Amino acid sequence: MQNKDPEYIDYLKEVGELLKKQGDDFEEIKVLEKPQKAVEVSVPVKMDDGSLKVFTAYRVQYSNARGPYKGGLRYHPEVDLAEVKSLAFWMSIKCAVADIPYGGGKGGIEVDPKSLSEGELERLTRGYVRAMAKNIGAKEDIPAPDVYTTPQIMAWFMDEYSRIQGENVPAIVTGKPIEIGGSLGRDTATAQGGVYVLHNVLENIKLEGGVSVAVNGFGNAGANFAEIADKEGYKIVAVSDSKGGIYEEDGLNVEAVIKHKEKTGSVVDMAGAKNISNEELLALKVDVLVPAALENVIHEKNHQDVKAKLILELANGPVNKKASQALFERGVTIIPDVLANAGGGVVSYFEWVQNLQNFYWSAEEVQKKLEPKMNKATDDIWKFKEKNKVDMRTGAYALAVKKILEAIKIKGI
Ligand code: NAD
Repeated sequence: MQNKDPEYIDYLKEVGELLKKQGDDFEEIKVLEKPQKAVEVSVPVKMDDGSLKVFTAYRVQYSNARGPYKGGLRYHPEVDLAEVKSLAFWMSIKCAVADIPYGGGKGGIEVDPKSLSEGELERLTRGYVRAMAKNIGAKEDIPAPDVYTTPQIMAWFMDEYSRIQGENVPAIVTGKPIEIGGSLGRDTATAQGGVYVLHNVLENIKLEGGVSVAVNGFGNAGANFAEIADKEGYKIVAVSDSKGGIYEEDGLNVEAVIKHKEKTGSVVDMAGAKNISNEELLALKVDVLVPAALENVIHEKNHQDVKAKLILELANGPVNKKASQALFERGVTIIPDVLANAGGGVVSYFEWVQNLQNFYWSAEEVQKKLEPKMNKATDDIWKFKEKNKVDMRTGAYALAVKKILEAIKIKGI
């Protein structure tokens, strides 16, 4: 039994105190201390060898104060209800930060998806949809991909739900393949959103000369970010992946690095660049450091080595709480994950809007609609943090919590 409050409750309490100091004393904050609904189901699946396995699965609907529940579906052997609750809380915050009209939710299945065949994975997904169908809906709760769930899984999800409803319901999930209602621009949205946020923050923090950038993690988020930022005139001096990193003081040719990684499987050993370790990359003297791989890469033991003036958290949770506090005190600006990687969530919302109206936008239109959303969110957080002398993370959480509490209050209990 869990006898300690989860970590997100500590954040919620801190933010509650900050809002109270400003004269915003919401009793409704008690509502946010618990999810509105948590569903646990078991999903029986006939395996390829004829045996039967029963999987445990969850959906947590944390808050729908600002709109339908929204959040990913995760397939992982260590998923449990406490984790899904916490992730569902953070989805409520993320959607409010980006000011998209959603609440927050999250789902998970306790499974190692790599141990299943494609057919087993499809039957598990369809079984989950049947078990959850009464709890979700295109205007009720809209899942999306998360850890180890793919556009193909979203396609099975949508198909099973549509069969149950007897009509095509593309808006039941986002992150679908383009052929069945996915949005153009979704694959680069997180990176593109990060570049917009960075531009915006750099209007407030003036840096001399060209802006040098190091990117830790060269996958979907990191490589797309490096490519877009390079085209926008940033100097990408270092990038890395799980095998190590590369450095070139005058700036890497990012397109050539992408080709090299496609050919060799890694960024290391790139002609004309120096090989460096991931630890060395994090300690480079650059203007901007972009952790885009794993969580907790900057922590108690290495934050002292960071020389960047600005950290853009493209990954989720790459700087832990203690390091975040120490870096703030040292004058390093951290653009928090809830803002830096919100572009993906915003374009998921655009996908849903296109599904509901049955009319689709070009990639350019998607990009044109993304930019003002990212700019507005960044401006609001910047103004709040300047006024209250807090870091951007606290500013983002406080504004988000305030928006949710105002919605609860206006609707009434
Ligand atoms: P990905 O699997 O495509 O890429 C991860 C990259 O990190 C790979 O290049 C991998 O080699 C590298 N990596 C792994 N271990 C490393 C290590 N120890 N040091 C350095 N690099 C290492 O994943 P992704 O989709 O790019 O996601 C990365 C992060 O961004 C995650 O935290 C994810 O939650 C977050 N994020 C991604 C999106 C998105 O749209 N892709 C949206 C929001 C948040």
